[in-house]
Order: sequence, then structure tokens, then C-alpha cells
Amino acid sequence: MHYAALASGSKGNCHAFGDGERILLVDAGISLLWTRRALADLGWDPGQVQAVALTHEHSDHVAAVDVLLRRTDWVFLATPETKAAVEACRGVEIPGSRWIPLRAGHPCDWNGWRILPFSLPHDAADPVAYRIEVGSVRAAVVTDLGQPTALVADHLQDLDLLVLEANHDLEMLREGSYPPQLKARILSRVGHLSNDAMATLLDRILSPRLRSVVLAHLSEQNNDPALARLAAQEVLGRRPGPSLFLASQRNPLAIDLAS
Ligand SMILES: [Zn+2]
Ligand SMILES: [Zn+2]
Repeated sequence: MHYAALASGSKGNCHAFGDGERILLVDAGISLLWTRRALADLGWDPGQVQAVALTHEHSDHVAAVDVLLRRTDWVFLATPETKAAVEACRGVEIPGSRWIPLRAGHPCDWNGWRILPFSLPHDAADPVAYRIEVGSVRAAVVTDLGQPTALVADHLQDLDLLVLEANHDLEMLREGSYPPQLKARILSRVGHLSNDAMATLLDRILSPRLRSVVLAHLSEQNNDPALARLAAQEVLGRRPGPSLFLASQRNPLAIDLAS
């Protein structure tokens, strides 16, 4: 089992999981060309991509859906609310033959993989994060949430890999140049996760099993990778524990999660 952060940030998000035979993407916020190139750069076979699990309808997560519908035969995993919102926002129709319906809180079996979408607080129709279990490997991708709820923490127990949003540094956001309305949206309970809130959540779910933590969806304007890293390191401490990675907008990153 392998994980890759192909792109992460406000200009487009796409994560990948592969078992050597097939690849599942989480979100389609970067172009098809970019997706294929990023996979190839990591030594993955882009021809193995079979499906995309969508988290919510914001364009940095679904911008490529129309092209993927036309140019690939990939299927889409999404809740009915997210499917309808994507169709309305993008002006597309995802045919029933290309759609695997999901329901938050209910696991779905996809070729023997256990895919569990769960709700998080964000200003979208039906936003979810994913817990993905393949063989004995357990991973989760959790971005675009305003606050770390108990329900989210419950779904992050006993993971091998956690991909977690570290969107902004509170001081940089407050003192930065974003318009007040946008600042308020990001800071709201359905906005994005600050470095401090990320650290709080990480502290709550830390387990001896956790081997890799990937900080994701960092704001280029309102965060500094060094600050995000520091906030996580304060929780992870100096004792031997999980390895810490930063997902970036442009440089893909791969992690081997051998079972
Ligand atoms: Zn986003
Ligand atoms: Zn969003």
C-alpha cells in the first residue's frame, strides 16, 4: 500500500492511494495532465487509476471533474449531496454508471478496500473526510474542516498514516491582507483548520501505531511551512514516533505504507 500527495493547497488538491494493481484518488482539484505527470514523476502507473473519491464541491477539489468525465472511464465516489453540488457548480452530469454512492458514517467496499467517509464541519453541501483501509494498513485524509470535532477524532483512532490540514497560522491570517469577510470565513467553525487546532487534534489521536503524519492544505499566504511543522513537532515530541511530512502545491510526495 502506497500513499501520494500529488498536490495540496488552495490551487488544487489530489491525493492517491495505490496497492500495486489499482489507484484511488481522493479529490480531483488538479488537471488530468498534472495528475498523470505527478503520478509518473513518483514512478506510479497513471493507467492504474480507477476511481476518485470526492470530499466536497469546492473548486480546489473538483476542478477536473468535467475533463475526467470526458477523457477517462474513472468512477466517482461521492455522497448524493456532493454529487448534486458538483454537478450544479461544474455544469456537468455524473452518470449513474460512473457513480458509487456514499453515505457519511457508512463504509463502502471498493475492490476489497474499506472506504469510510465521515462528516466534518465545512461550508459545503455534505463535506466528508476519508478513512481508507487496505489489508492491515489504515490511513485517513482530513482537510477542509473548521474545527476538530469529537466525531472526526473518533474516526482517526489507530491509523498508520494521517493526512491532516494545517491551513493557517492564526497570527499570519489575522494580520494578513485577506479581506475581513474571507478571514472570518476561514476562521469560522466551518472554515479551515489552523496550525493550533491541527496540533490539538493530533494530540488527541496520537497512538503508538501512527507512523506517518502529512500536513496538508497549507495556505501559501497565511502559513509558513516552518510554523506548521513546529506546531506538529511540539505534539510529536522528540521521542521516536511518526515521521512528519509536508504536502505541497507543486512537489508530489510519496510514502510507502507496507503492510
Ligand atoms: Zn480546499
Ligand atoms: Zn473547501
